[in-house]
Amino acid sequence: MRLSVVVPCFNEEASVERLHAAVNAAVAELTDVEIEVVYVDDGSSDGTLVALRRLAAADPRVRYTSLSRNFGKEAAMLAGLERATGDAVVIMDADLQHPPWLLPDMVALYRQGFDQVIARRDRRGDRFVRMLASRSFYRLVNWWIDVRLLDGAGDFRLLSRLAVDAVLAMPEYNRFSKGLFSWIGFRTVVVAHGNQTRQAGRSRWTFGKLFNYAFDGLLSFNNRPLRLAIYGGLFLTLIAVVYMAWVVADAVSKGIDVPGYTTIIVSVIGLGGIQMTILGVIGEYIGRIYYETKRRPHYLVQETEDLVTQGGEAPR
Ligand code: UDP
Ligand code: MG
Repeated sequence: MRLSVVVPCFNEEASVERLHAAVNAAVAELTDVEIEVVYVDDGSSDGTLVALRRLAAADPRVRYTSLSRNFGKEAAMLAGLERATGDAVVIMDADLQHPPWLLPDMVALYRQGFDQVIARRDRRGDRFVRMLASRSFYRLVNWWIDVRLLDGAGDFRLLSRLAVDAVLAMPEYNRFSKGLFSWIGFRTVVVAHGNQTRQAGRSRWTFGKLFNYAFDGLLSFNNRPLRLAIYGGLFLTLIAVVYMAWVVADAVSKGIDVPGYTTIIVSVIGLGGIQMTILGVIGEYIGRIYYETKRRPHYLVQETEDLVTQGGEAPR
């Protein structure tokens, strides 16, 4: 069989060589497996591309794609999946947080007939706030969207060719891979591994980015937020009607004395806030439609191991 390992890299010059050595060591025992490692340089501003050229020159099993700028991990993973040619594809981070020694186990499970082998990490050693945030995120998402997401199960997984083609058949612009991987289904198995801290460089995830990511997850899978907006609106209308009936009855039975200044202010502000929220939800979806209709490519390629573009150095 042929195995592709896809590695998105953004400013990982300190890690790629070490990762490559670790991958090589891990697959050494898989003598009957033909390996290719597809690195995707996601517009790094450090020496990542130079390191990748060097790896590719030294090792024919290395392929790389360098994107024209930083398109984000989702796009980089997509680029890697599109270039990977293996019967099975493993996606892993460059920072050694995804332990390569798991590869033989994952391949063994693939050979047992699984189409998705998810490597799930525990959260030992994570910062408490981050752990709490992730826990709540998964609670919320699993209650909210149609697909089940597993806490600790990230993008580190093996996909069979069947699963890869299924993922590639989804051309959507807003890609939320965790959701897509779960959405496609197929025979799935989970292997657990201990939490690994980043070996070098630093994580690109600020809290703000994580928050946006969580938001994407909640909005990109169905239109339930819109549904909720409608229900909320109906509920408030009902309250307003009942309250109005009560005020009118009051005024008719007790004469015309309707002190309602506070009520009016509160309801104006309250309704204003709710309307803004609902408009915001609608706006989010329209924004997504806007991006989808532009049909822009997810990424642009600057250089690969066999494509030298203007200004690029000869890779080999
Ligand atoms: N990454 C990428 N493009 C980006 C950000 C990250 O390709 O814009 C890669 C990064 O090089 C790493 C992986 O995605 O291989 C995970 O990134 P990171 O370690 O920053 O995330 P964390 O492990 O903290 O979730
Ligand atoms: Mg990391």
